[in-house]
Amino acid sequence: MVKLDGSEGEGGGQILRSALTLSALTGQPFEITKIRAGRAKPGLLRQHLTALRAAAAICGGKYSDDVTIGATELMFYPGDIRAGNYEFAVGTAGSAMLVLQTILLPLLQASEPSRVIISGGTHNPAAPPFQFVDQCFLPQLRAMGADVELSLLQYGFMPAGGGKVMATIQPCDGLKTLDILDRGSSEELIAEAYFANIPFDVAERELGHISKRLKLPKTAAQVREVKSIGPGNMLGVTARFEHVTEFISAFGRRGTRAEDVADGVADEVRAYLDGSAAVGPHLADQLLLPMAIAGGGSFTTSAPTPHTQTNASTIAEFLDINVRFEPIDKSDDVTVTVDRKI
Ligand code: ATP
Repeated sequence: MVKLDGSEGEGGGQILRSALTLSALTGQPFEITKIRAGRAKPGLLRQHLTALRAAAAICGGKYSDDVTIGATELMFYPGDIRAGNYEFAVGTAGSAMLVLQTILLPLLQASEPSRVIISGGTHNPAAPPFQFVDQCFLPQLRAMGADVELSLLQYGFMPAGGGKVMATIQPCDGLKTLDILDRGSSEELIAEAYFANIPFDVAERELGHISKRLKLPKTAAQVREVKSIGPGNMLGVTARFEHVTEFISAFGRRGTRAEDVADGVADEVRAYLDGSAAVGPHLADQLLLPMAIAGGGSFTTSAPTPHTQTNASTIAEFLDINVRFEPIDKSDDVTVTVDRKI
C-alpha cells in the first residue's frame, strides 16, 4: 500500500489525480491523507470526486462508500484496466480536462479502443483549457506513440460549466521515451479571444491590446464567438515551434479590464519567447507522468514549479523512476531528466 501525504509540496488536487493514474497503471493500492491541505477549501471537490469515480470505473477500482465531497482521506484499490464507452459528469464547472488527464494514460494500456465523454468545465482558471490539452499536451503524447483524438463538443466556462469533451483512445503498445531539449524553429504566433454571452468589444479590446504588445499582424489575431450555457471569455496565445507548442491563456472576469487580461497574457508570452527553455511551466508538470510511464524522457524548462516538483515526488512513490533537475549554465532554466533507477 503506497502511503501519500496530500499536504506535501504543492498540496493540491494533482497529488490525488496522479496517484489514481499511477495506481490504475501499476496495480498498487494507495492511501492518501490530508487531501488538498494546501488549499483554502481542503478535501475533495466535485472535480476530484469525479476523477476518483472515473479512475475506479476504468479499472474496476474500489474505494470506501463514505468518500464524498470534502473528504480529506481515502484508500483506493485498483483492478484491471478495461476499455469501454465511458461518460462522466463533474456536475459543476470543475475541470473536465483534469478528469480526462487522470484516466487517459491508463486507457492507453487497455486492449481495445475507448471513447470517453466528460462534461463539466472545459475552460477553467488554474487548469489546462481544452486548447492546451489539444495543442500542447496531446502532440507530445502522440510523439511518444499514443493515438488519441480529442474533440470539444461544448464550451464550458466557470462558473456555469456545461462543457463537454470527447476523447477516442486507441490501445498503445507502450509509450516511447521523448526528448524535448529545444523548441526548434518558430512557426506561428497567434492570439485568439474566445467569448460567449458577453459583449463583443471585450474580446476586441483584448485582441487589440495584445496585438500591440506582441506586435502581431491583423491576420494573427482572431475573435472567436462560441456557444456556451453561461458567460465566458478566454484570451489565448499559441506559440507554435517545430518541436513544441505553448498555449498561454487568461480568463476575463467582471471587474478586470480587458487590457489587464491582455497584459497578463502578453507578459507570460514575452517571458516564454525571451527565454530559451523548450517547455513552459504547465506542460512541464504534465509531461512527467507519460515520461515516467515510458521509462524515460527529458526536456528543458524554466525554474521547476511546486506542481512539477510535487508530481516528481508522487511518481517516485509508485515507480522506480528518478526525476532529476539540472541547472543550465547560470540561468534559472533546468534540464529535467526522467529515467529508471539503476
Ligand atoms: P486545487 O487542488 O488547486 O483546487 P486542482 O485539483 O485543480 O487544484 P492542481 O493540483 O492545482 O489541481 O493542478 C492543476 C493542473 O492544471 C496542473 O497540471 C497545472 O499545470 C495545470 N494548469 C493550471 N493552469 C494552467 C494553464 N493556464 N494552462 C495549462 N495548464 C494549467
